[in-house]
Amino acid sequence: MSQPTRVRFAPSPTGALHIGGVRTALYNYLLAKKLGGTMLLRIEDTDQTRFVEGAENYIIEALNWLGITIDEGIGVGGPHAPYRQSERKDIYKKYAQQLIDEDKAYYAFDTSEELDAMRQAFEAQGSAFQYSAATRTRLKNSLTLSAEETKAKIEAGEPYVIRLKVPAKEEIRLKDLIRDWVHVHSSTIDDKVLMKSDGMPTYHLANVVDDHLMEITHVIRGEEWLPSAPLHVLLYRALGWESTMPQFAHLPLLLKPEGNGKLSKRDADLGGFPVFPLEWKNPDGSTAKGFREEGYLKEAVTNFLAFLGWNPGTEQEMFSMQELVDAFTLERINKAGAKFDINKAKWFNQQYLKLRSDEELAREYLSDIDVEKAVKIVHLFKERVTFPQEIASEAKALLQAPSSYDEAVVASKWNDDAKRGIAAFKEALVGLDNFVADEIKHTLSAELEKLSIKMGKVMQMLRVTITGLGAGPDLMLSMEIMGKEEVIARLEKALTTL
Ligand code: GLU
Repeated sequence: MSQPTRVRFAPSPTGALHIGGVRTALYNYLLAKKLGGTMLLRIEDTDQTRFVEGAENYIIEALNWLGITIDEGIGVGGPHAPYRQSERKDIYKKYAQQLIDEDKAYYAFDTSEELDAMRQAFEAQGSAFQYSAATRTRLKNSLTLSAEETKAKIEAGEPYVIRLKVPAKEEIRLKDLIRDWVHVHSSTIDDKVLMKSDGMPTYHLANVVDDHLMEITHVIRGEEWLPSAPLHVLLYRALGWESTMPQFAHLPLLLKPEGNGKLSKRDADLGGFPVFPLEWKNPDGSTAKGFREEGYLKEAVTNFLAFLGWNPGTEQEMFSMQELVDAFTLERINKAGAKFDINKAKWFNQQYLKLRSDEELAREYLSDIDVEKAVKIVHLFKERVTFPQEIASEAKALLQAPSSYDEAVVASKWNDDAKRGIAAFKEALVGLDNFVADEIKHTLSAELEKLSIKMGKVMQMLRVTITGLGAGPDLMLSMEIMGKEEVIARLEKALTTL
């Protein structure tokens, strides 16, 4: 019988959650939902020097916004609480002690000055220093000191770390669900620190202990963690947990828009696009853009992110969260990095914007305008904008009489026919009671027909007299929204000033 699927998102609260981290959370969530499993949120805050106030709340808010729901962990609770690593120190200490007792780890007392000196000595000989089976016998640790000396140092309060005693000659094989087999020889891995001198575990120890205790079945995380995976296998082995070790899936990198190199904050600044889900205030007072505040709809963001490194193998591009859950498999995740193309995100945004109802958008973005009118305005602009807040600025322009007229159009189109046609149209409007788009259009064509003027000769100029602009959305509907008095006033003004 196969175990119930349990996955986790395990961010470190070191600042705003990067969009790549959001993709990791999304893929974990999709797999959990697909397999009827559980999605955990664990906070990996053992590095006190990188802790940033507010980052944990930011993570929770971002996941909430996107509908990546957490079943267990931070904010929810569960049988393996606490889920914040800084509150689990005693647990890690216990396992570090177990490793020491079984001679699989050891105390090391070398100061950073001593290690630096060692490094320099190695470099002088043209090689690189590694704290490992090859060197540990010459360093200051519980393997070279007597038991009494070690005990005395610890009791005297001398700072120490606990290191993993990485075996000198062991083959490490690990099957990554995306990258297939990874082979590493233990001689290439150094004796990693498991417990730091401040009594906190390192990421490696805490991560492995927690994944085991929390019964995680799949570790889905960014490619940057792939080099750590063989060490993690050694740790599972040392702790006697190798047979129940989770499966690994390392996600492809997010690449620069041009595709060469890792996507950076700088690319975002240069391109003027966000790489964070929500706006974030930096400690220096500057603000980093967020997808949410820029006007991206959450459905567009999840759809866009799902496609950064995964594809369904069909032509379909639009996927609701439920459709993503149904279609998602780890097998369809690419090995190659995914180009971060913000234009694709904009395209998704336009598609999802079109799917929103006029009423809903009117209520949300044009709340200060009469509802009936607001709904018409939304209808007019919905298909022409990328972001919903653009509807409000377009509405503002529409409801304001023009202060100038498109000069190029005036120069080429403001002729006798246009003048006569528009003047006649204006007069006819005075008597039009049912001021709706169809009737307005009917009035216009009837008047032009009487004067034997072709519609095409006048239309653009008519738009300029009413809006000042040479192009824009449906003019008849625009006039309906402006209302009869306003349209006549604008026409009058144009006829006298032009
Ligand atoms: N705390 C690590 C991070 O911030 C988690 C890596 C992992 O998922 O194992 O990315």
